[in-house]
Amino acid sequence: MGFLEDAQGEILVGKRFSVKIAKNRCKGCGLCIDVCSQKNLILSKSFNASGYHFIEVSSNSCKGCKKCSIICPDAAIEIFLEENSIQSQQKKEEK
Ligand code: SF4
Ligand code: SF4
Repeated sequence: MGFLEDAQGEILVGKRFSVKIAKNRCKGCGLCIDVCSQKNLILSKSFNASGYHFIEVSSNSCKGCKKCSIICPDAAIEIFLEENSIQSQQKKEEK
């Protein structure tokens, strides 16, 4: 498998990602859980405003593959590259 790259072709391996979930859009279908190789997503025991169990992040092991975001039929998941992971990478490169 090749390295993950962003739109500019920058290699993203070793960087940190955050997973933003719009819990009130989630219908608890579980598709995102099934595609996450990092087992980073779980179904909450709580209910959202529409009465569905919603998705929560279980760890900070996200690799930024975006499979969860792509498969979600309700566009409830966004993946962000954490700014401080970019800065720490830049500091490493400056040394
Ligand atoms: S982006 Fe990939 S690794 Fe991160 S939570 Fe989604 S499926 Fe899992
Ligand atoms: S795929 Fe979307 S709607 Fe289904 S459980 Fe995941 S976040 Fe919720």
